[in-house]
Formats: sequence, structure tokens, C-alpha cells
Amino acid sequence: MRIGAHVDSTDPLAEAAARSADTVQFFLSDPQGWKAPKPREDAERLRAAEVDLYVHAPYVINVATLNNRIRIPSRKLLLGHATAAAAIGAKGLIVHGGHVNAGDDLAVGFDNWRKTFAYAADSGGFGVPVLIENTAGGDNACARRLDALARLWDAIGDHEVGFCLDTCHAYAGGEELLGLVDRVKAITGRIDLVHANNSKGAFNSGQDRHDNLGGGTIDPELVVAVIRAAGAPVVVETPGGVTGQAADIDFLRQQLGAESPAA
Ligand SMILES: [Zn+2]
Repeated sequence: MRIGAHVDSTDPLAEAAARSADTVQFFLSDPQGWKAPKPREDAERLRAAEVDLYVHAPYVINVATLNNRIRIPSRKLLLGHATAAAAIGAKGLIVHGGHVNAGDDLAVGFDNWRKTFAYAADSGGFGVPVLIENTAGGDNACARRLDALARLWDAIGDHEVGFCLDTCHAYAGGEELLGLVDRVKAITGRIDLVHANNSKGAFNSGQDRHDNLGGGTIDPELVVAVIRAAGAPVVVETPGGVTGQAADIDFLRQQLGAESPAA
């Protein structure tokens, strides 16, 4: 069982060591910006590392939207991040499911996702597994509730696409965690990564506010049950820096009977 954390991108391997993590996730550029990622000087060291690496795509990416001025650059930015993630040997690139604007047809959003994979295939492929993550909020989201997720997978399931399950987003988004893994796998066939987060917001609040595993509104044992059922690597995206995240990782290792990496 690989367990780690979302960390600062400056020196991800040092961040991993500070948390005794065997997995890290980080951004390759400003998550709120549109700049393409620059090649990393530590690419060789990252590729050779024992630590498993995941890259989180910027939050601004929304490949589903009907707004051309967001969708077209989103596609390009996603492909640019995939190429950069492949260059450091990342195991996956996580991207949010996105949404359409109020009044727009969600069916077009799913088709825009299909076109994104077609565009990538025409450009030589993503080169790294793309993991679509469920989101917490909004009325027109592609991957907040499972009914939408099923329609999304109908549109893109023939492509090589993975899924990242965020426990905070699921709960705040209005999906019960009990039995959730089976319901998701019935749609996607797979869960590639779990984002293990507690939620400051209440069930179905639509709020994307992560909390440490022992805090928040979710029974932490439910988060553990999700991880156990998913059988996938885990990344905590929780507050508190090294101390807070190391405590969350320790808690999960204890609950799951997982061993720390050799120092
Ligand atoms: Zn997440």
C-alpha cells in the first residue's frame, strides 16, 4: 500500500522524506494559472526515485466547458502537463472532471471530454495515465455525482482513462462513502488513486474544503474503508504541512497495517 501526500513542488523528494511518504503528488505550474510547465532540472533524479510521483493538473483546466476560450487552452494545457508528467516518470496526471455553465447542455460537456481524448490521440497520446477526479461542487459538473460520472464514462470509456476518487469531494458532493468504491467501479471498472481527505463541509454541502483525517465531518473509519476497498495508492491533500500530513499518513498506515518505507 503506497501512501503519500500532496506537497510543494520545489523539492518533492525532500517533502516525501520529511513525511516518510512513498508517494507524492505536486503541481508542475501555478495551479491557478495558464502557463505551460517548464522542463524540470531534477527530471532525472525524479525519474530514478523510489518514490511514486503523481502530477496534479492546474485547477483552471476545464475541458468540458462550451466556452471555447476556456476549453481550447484547457486541452492544450492538459496535454502539456501530460507530456511534462511523462518526462519525470509520473504514474499519473490528475485532472478534475470539469463542468458546463448554467443553462448549457451537460451532454455537450461529455462530448467535449471525448474530443479531448481524440485530440490527444491525434497528437501522439497523453504518454501518461490521465486520472479524472470527482469534484465536490456545482450543479453542472461532469464528475460530482455518479449519474454524471456514468454518462462521462459512456463518452470516454473506450479511451485509456483512469479515475481518482477524492473522499472529501465525494462526501461534500453528496455521495455516501459506504459502498462507494463498488458503485464507482461498476462505472469506471477501476480506481487508480484515492485522495484521502476529510471534509470541513457537511454532506452534500458542495464545499471543497479539505480537513485532516481526524478532523472534519467524515468518520475517519469510512475513509479507511474506502481505501481498503479501492486497493489503490493513497495521497492525502490535507492541511498542517509536514506535521499534519505525516500524522494523517501514520494514521492510515496504522489502520491499514501498511509499513513505512525503509529510511
Ligand atoms: Zn483531490
